[in-house]
Amino acid sequence: MLPAWGPSGWKPYVWGTRVAWTTVGDGEFFCPDCGGDRNYRRRTGRRRFALLGIPLLARGDAGPVVECAACQGRFGMDVLDHPTSLRFSAMLKDAVHTVALAVLAAGGTSSRTALASAVSAVRTAGYDDCTEDQLTTLIDALAADTGRITGGPAGPAAITLAIELHEALDPLAPHLAPAGRELILVQAARIALADGPYTPAEREVLATVGGALRLEQDAVSRLLASGRTPS
Ligand SMILES: [Zn+2]
Repeated sequence: MLPAWGPSGWKPYVWGTRVAWTTVGDGEFFCPDCGGDRNYRRRTGRRRFALLGIPLLARGDAGPVVECAACQGRFGMDVLDHPTSLRFSAMLKDAVHTVALAVLAAGGTSSRTALASAVSAVRTAGYDDCTEDQLTTLIDALAADTGRITGGPAGPAAITLAIELHEALDPLAPHLAPAGRELILVQAARIALADGPYTPAEREVLATVGGALRLEQDAVSRLLASGRTPS
């Protein structure tokens, strides 16, 4: 609202454009202004030219906008592309769990060190009650569902795993910093290396993980060769 004319002490404006907002939906989002999960109202507005505060002429539509219930900040609809903190941590937990299962499924569950390494990664990600038995049961179920685990890179189990990995990692990758994406791959490499060098099936799974995490092929090769935490 721009001030128009008049000596100081008068109303701050005489004419200008006013927007009448209508709420058309609500939900929860991550507010970039006040920095947390907040409720929002999705609003559309109608602009009107106003004289002395009285709306006169329609000047078209405004919005839609997303309005934070806490700080009243207004944002474009693309702010909803960013997951809430709650949703983000759930996605991260799910990703680490799926990756651990995929690596174990490719390498086999006969090694206690590999199982222990997988359980440790999954617990660190937030599934505090994860056990070796739980992971073994899930992998046995996958095997029963799709046939032999080590069916080769084109086997049904490998295809199922690749789909699961993409479903868990694709939505997460755009919201994770490079170091966070590399860490998921390094954790996976550690599980694979716990019982000896990479098998071809493990390499296949790790390459799929790296690709779904949008890591360059060079970075994937480097991280798999080093098998260490990115600095
Ligand atoms: Zn806010």
